[in-house]
Amino acid sequence: MLLHGTEALKEAAAAGHALPGFVAYNLETVQGITAAAETAGRPVIIQAGSSPFKHAGREALMRLALHAAGHSAARLGVHLDHSRDLDEITACLEAGYTSVMVDGSHLPFAENIALTKEAVRRARDHGAWVEAELGALPGDEDVSTNAVAHTAAMTDPQQAAEFVAATGVDALAVAVGNVHGFTQHPVRLDLERLAAIHEAVTVPLVPLVLHGASGLPVEELHGALARGVAKVNVNAELRRAYLEATRETLPSALSGSNVVSLWAAGRDAVRDAALEVIGRLSPRAEGADA
Ligand SMILES: [Zn+2]
Repeated sequence: MLLHGTEALKEAAAAGHALPGFVAYNLETVQGITAAAETAGRPVIIQAGSSPFKHAGREALMRLALHAAGHSAARLGVHLDHSRDLDEITACLEAGYTSVMVDGSHLPFAENIALTKEAVRRARDHGAWVEAELGALPGDEDVSTNAVAHTAAMTDPQQAAEFVAATGVDALAVAVGNVHGFTQHPVRLDLERLAAIHEAVTVPLVPLVLHGASGLPVEELHGALARGVAKVNVNAELRRAYLEATRETLPSALSGSNVVSLWAAGRDAVRDAALEVIGRLSPRAEGADA
């Protein structure tokens, strides 16, 4: 069923666990993510957004994700990830997305506020919630690039408070040393900064979002969950699982010209990788959301 509203996020923030946001690119990734949510009995967010639209086509992927989520026994949000385009945001809201991320992190502060405010206004008309980003993340959404974090782009706690008050945004993605994709060296989060941001946006509570959690050491991750992070985006881990399963299955698939066996292996690998992540994101909440 479709997971509406921010209750699950707020519960997660209070309980020290987090909802995963998994990127879906095609039928098999949607199926794998949905199956993981059903098996785990925990809420999950399917992120079918800008960059996967380029592969699958916007209408096709939107309908696919919404159909899968709406017909599943699991609680599944359908989310537009990293959008800078108000027309795209509106299209997803009109289709029935439960949340959108407006990414004005590349803009000057005042312009980020203006863009985010407009996205919030549009989302309210459709009963959806909005994630915004303050501070910029290094790395690429879809390909691991060995990017290095730059302190200069990190989220400032005081600005975060100002930003949240000015925009009315429901969740805030932060830059605290996290990097999109796998990195050459383990990522260290600035947990002190994260705690200060969390404190700055506690009344009213705005759950924080951590992008780029693939390969993040588990103690760093749990440190983030204890500091208000209630949604964690994981993408590269699922992509790698899909690719490895594909490589393993390819010889037998080729010998029988059995393309479905290849896709099925990819789907099952995504499911298993997603299940592993879900477990990592629930350190103190086993069964609490079942
Ligand atoms: Zn991201």
